[in-house]
Amino acid sequence: MTQNVENVIDHFNLFRGPEYIEMFENKRKNFENAHPDEKIEEVREWTKSWEYREKNFAREALTVNPAKACQPLGAVFAAVGFEQTMPFVHGSQGCVAYYRSHFSRHFKEPSSCVSSSMTEDAAVFGGLNNMIDGLANTYSMYKPKMIAVSTTCMAEVIGDDLNGFIQNARAKGSVPEDFDVPFAHTPAFVGSHITGYDNALKGIVSHFWEGKERTPNEKINFIGGFDGYTVGNLREVKRLFEVMGVEHTILADNSEVWDTPADGEFRMYDGGTTLDDAKAALNAKATISMQEYCTEKTMDYIGKTGQETVALNHPVGVAATDKFLMEISRISGKAIPAALTKERGRLVDAIADSSAHIHGKKFAIYGDPDLCYGLAAFLMELGAEPVHVLSTNGGKDWDAKMQALFDSSPFGKGCKSYAGKDLWHMRSLLNTEPVDFLIGNTYGKYLERDTGTPLIRIGFPVFDRHHHHRYPVWGYQGAMNVLVWLLDKIFDEMDKNTIIPAKTDYSYDIIR
Ligand code: SF4
Repeated sequence: MTQNVENVIDHFNLFRGPEYIEMFENKRKNFENAHPDEKIEEVREWTKSWEYREKNFAREALTVNPAKACQPLGAVFAAVGFEQTMPFVHGSQGCVAYYRSHFSRHFKEPSSCVSSSMTEDAAVFGGLNNMIDGLANTYSMYKPKMIAVSTTCMAEVIGDDLNGFIQNARAKGSVPEDFDVPFAHTPAFVGSHITGYDNALKGIVSHFWEGKERTPNEKINFIGGFDGYTVGNLREVKRLFEVMGVEHTILADNSEVWDTPADGEFRMYDGGTTLDDAKAALNAKATISMQEYCTEKTMDYIGKTGQETVALNHPVGVAATDKFLMEISRISGKAIPAALTKERGRLVDAIADSSAHIHGKKFAIYGDPDLCYGLAAFLMELGAEPVHVLSTNGGKDWDAKMQALFDSSPFGKGCKSYAGKDLWHMRSLLNTEPVDFLIGNTYGKYLERDTGTPLIRIGFPVFDRHHHHRYPVWGYQGAMNVLVWLLDKIFDEMDKNTIIPAKTDYSYDIIR
């Protein structure tokens, strides 16, 4: 036996033992009715061809590995950004187990969220009783200050009316009459996690602002959007506002709850935008969103209250950070301090130091529309070429904006964006028009193995590398982090490519 009680080994080696190898071979032969290896190889090769790519891009009724998640995931992301708020998803338990595990695997933190546990009877008769019991249990067991409600597919398919259900639950005493229960319908079969974030945040903001009179002040609201780097990014943004001396309110600040200390105390809630600040944010002079496509409805609603709105596209790099800081400066009337000019200079210096290694490299990127835009713009700033940029949850407007970005630089020549496409489309792109590197989330590791394109993990989720979410990608410091991640992979690949003694190692250099 490969393993016994004296020698317990991990799964890496366990399944390489002879008895397991034999078992897998028998399974393949006797149960799986597998095709011969040569046939599999022949088909695999064909799927790398231009002929297959054309068929792949012609498909209409099938999605394979979409680079997106469903709406309620985004709603939960927004909800945990508020003080002592419990996200409550009206629907089935399994969905909520998925959201919790998805966030816990990315942030390596417990993620609290409850469901109304709808089952077959609720699917037939409606989930009103689940809402009444669920709100009562959540209120009494988890002592929240606010419960933010969203929905899964099941509740939306049967057409449950959240507003009516919540009123009914209040009338039955599930929560006190004046307890905050903002809500948003988040049908998972349309849009994606960024639509869910948008719907939920609009639901929370309008819950506090609707019908209230606005008394403008000089503060600026800031919205980060759905962002895998929220812990590092929001801290960096707060620092930038502080260095600028500008009063601000972060709306949906989840940077604390996903980075709680290990000091013996479990914090179901930590940090977050206070409910008082959320209410008072109506009076701000302006709201800046870091992600246009992730906050469309929220920003539209905020604009209608009389505030100025500015939406950026996940700004990464020198020009994008310049724009962000200049907008804060313009709105607040405060000059950008010398300390930030110095940080900018350091980033420009770092780019110049490494330019020879990154200039002219070809990249493929996939992810959320704003992140793709921000990364493509930064690559072009570095003299690299974002040849394929794919966003499953990008639309026609995003496509047009990407094209305008490509057209603005010689490094965008021949680059193309792909809205609404999935990772199986990306596989065809990488096989037919290869690039040097792929940028995307953890799921890209299968594309890396399949196509041989080295993966740089930037996006959400990143499950198989730890702690990247603690680093910002916004601000000059954030761009420095992204630059280092890109360069680390470039140098790793360079080393791999030059490692054979007496054959290729004339370039296996200590100095790069
Ligand atoms: S797609 Fe629907 S069933 Fe699947 S996790 Fe999302 S809400 Fe649940």
